[in-house]
Amino acid sequence: MEEEPDANHRRRQICNSCDRPNPICLCHVIPNDPIPTNTEIIIVHHPHESRHKLNTTPLLTKSLRNVTRIPPRRLRRHHISSAGETSVSPPIRTIYLFPSSPSSPAVTISEFKSLNQRDISNPPPLRLIVFDATWKHASEMVKASEEVLREAGAVRVCLDTGIDASVSGGTIYDSELVLRKEPFGGCVTTAEAVARCLGAIEPDGEEIERKLISVLKEMVRLQSKFLKPMNPRPKLLKKRLQNQSANT
Ligand SMILES: [Zn+2]
Repeated sequence: MEEEPDANHRRRQICNSCDRPNPICLCHVIPNDPIPTNTEIIIVHHPHESRHKLNTTPLLTKSLRNVTRIPPRRLRRHHISSAGETSVSPPIRTIYLFPSSPSSPAVTISEFKSLNQRDISNPPPLRLIVFDATWKHASEMVKASEEVLREAGAVRVCLDTGIDASVSGGTIYDSELVLRKEPFGGCVTTAEAVARCLGAIEPDGEEIERKLISVLKEMVRLQSKFLKPMNPRPKLLKKRLQNQSANT
């Protein structure tokens, strides 16, 4: 099948709304009105990760109302001191998503919920911090943020599925949602991790999780279609994509 002469040109065009190349535009699945949440979400976004084409944080910032992306490699005090926070209002509980380690054990998000959110219809304000980076960078970022996390009384939480470091690569959801090989079994993309977390802790969690996962699924579907090996010149395409992400 022959491509139209200007197909290459069009492929490079970026959608104004979702900032993605037109063939993989996600505007038809991203909620028109960003979803409100009781949880304030802060994504500490490693600069390398934010340049990566398959990074999922932009899906979250476009789909959710109460999300802030911060670019530096570590959390600082001012990132988590909300302007509206007064001594009168109930204190905001802070949790951060990171796997358990012997020195810093994590509670699963379900355990956290059963311990802290007995009254699900009127949950206390919650702040969720997520580190979006490779495994190695995220460990460094958490380490560099330790003091601020400790001061905020932040509780380390992990997904109920946990991490199984004995399985290399892939995720338990890899039938549908794997975008890139992660270093350990049970690792998931940032958007999926946030979706699962909100699914567990938001009063309307199931619905929010379903919406976010459907955006992610569509991203995976389009991406796999676009990057299929049936493309006659995959190397050239790859190079073009690399140039594209380097230019953004
Ligand atoms: Zn779009």
